[in-house]
Amino acid sequence: MSAASDKPVVTRFAPSPTGYLHIGGGRTALFNWLYARGRQGTFLLRIEDTDRERSTPEATDAILRGLTWLGLDWDGEVVSQFARKDRHAEVAREMLERGAAYKCFSTQEEIEGFREAARAEGRSTLFRSPWRDADPASHPDAPFVIRMKAPRSGETVIEDEVQGTVRFQNETLDDMVVLRSDGTPTYMLAVVVDDHDMGVTHVIRGDDHLNNAARQTMVYEAMGWEVPVWAHIPLIHGPDGKKLSKRHGALGVEEYQAMGYPAAGMRNYLARLGWSHGDDEFFTSEQAMGWFDLDGIGRSPARLDFKKLESVCGQHIAVMEDAELMREIAAYLAAARKPALTDLQAERLEKGLYALKDRAKTFPELLEKARFALESRPISADDAAAKSLDPVSRGILRELTPMLQAASWSKQDLEAILTAFAGEKGMGFGKLAAPLRTALAGRTVTPSVYDMMLVIGRDETIARLEDAAAA
Ligand code: GLU
Repeated sequence: MSAASDKPVVTRFAPSPTGYLHIGGGRTALFNWLYARGRQGTFLLRIEDTDRERSTPEATDAILRGLTWLGLDWDGEVVSQFARKDRHAEVAREMLERGAAYKCFSTQEEIEGFREAARAEGRSTLFRSPWRDADPASHPDAPFVIRMKAPRSGETVIEDEVQGTVRFQNETLDDMVVLRSDGTPTYMLAVVVDDHDMGVTHVIRGDDHLNNAARQTMVYEAMGWEVPVWAHIPLIHGPDGKKLSKRHGALGVEEYQAMGYPAAGMRNYLARLGWSHGDDEFFTSEQAMGWFDLDGIGRSPARLDFKKLESVCGQHIAVMEDAELMREIAAYLAAARKPALTDLQAERLEKGLYALKDRAKTFPELLEKARFALESRPISADDAAAKSLDPVSRGILRELTPMLQAASWSKQDLEAILTAFAGEKGMGFGKLAAPLRTALAGRTVTPSVYDMMLVIGRDETIARLEDAAAA
């Protein structure tokens, strides 16, 4: 393990703002956040916006919104990589001074010519610049790029916390460009300079960057900087084991919010995608912070499993505080572009949460079960529910109403009244409950009739029974 591991932990998430926050990016951010938060460390956010053509402010906003929804708070200001371009150029010049880089005047045509000749002769097509060892006195007054003077023999070894020891033969790597002829830095240089300047001790990112780690290590070494601890995590695959793509379903973190998954459930599920702590499937973020370690990250790609996601989310909804649930439901409705709750709806919903939250895996499911609390009179019934309203059951509702007028409106009292009433009529309670569910919620599957009555109160209950009896 590198010496960087002895210092206070600093991790970062470094997305390129070219679209939305991908689910894989969300997981990378989560791993970095958990690792830092569990160690009193620092978690930084850097937007890698050096590619001016592909980077957009809208994409940056979408990334920040996605992270905020997931509850992954970063420390300090968001760093813009592009804003640091002068610093990157300064380091490129310093590499020149140290003899770790050189000015290369080869034109695009010359490079192409080199490659063609190499191909024809069956040699490696890696570009070998004639300027690598040229005497500066021979330099023309022409545009140039700055190239890293990469070692040509030996190997570069990455000690990766997930992938183990990974060796790269230096002869397979060319002298990469660190500064373009227009003075802009390349991505490979910018990442290293930024990670170094930001004091990043642990680079946890997708294993699609493993090859970059070799080249980046060369820059660290050329500058005499301490190499961070590497942890390249396998990418997420679809349920079929293939590389994750749109046909597997939602890819953007915000789409999951719009589908009504709670953020705590999403964090829990994403943590389990590629990382494990014994057999624990359901846990809080605080627990995950305490447990999360690079040792627990698997080497093979994790598969997205919507069933598991739903099951974990259902367990989180069941234990969420009412106020937090109300906040998240409001945010879900906004994300899904659905109308916000009115004050009365919110008041009834909050009152009814105790009877709703242990049965819903997502917010839309919870809201469907909460129909009795959200609809206003007259309550419309679906076909199945409408079936339980016939002349006989309407008569029964009419008879029941005056008895409810006198009830004390406690659960015990309502239970006693309804059970006695059903007994008197010689009907099972289920038979009585069916038209009550229709009257109160317009559905056959609802919370218990007592809970519905308690939540909406006496006047509303009686009015709904009267509506149904008269219909
Ligand atoms: N900007 C890179 C990406 O979005 C990440 C680079 C890194 O983490 O080092 O894939």
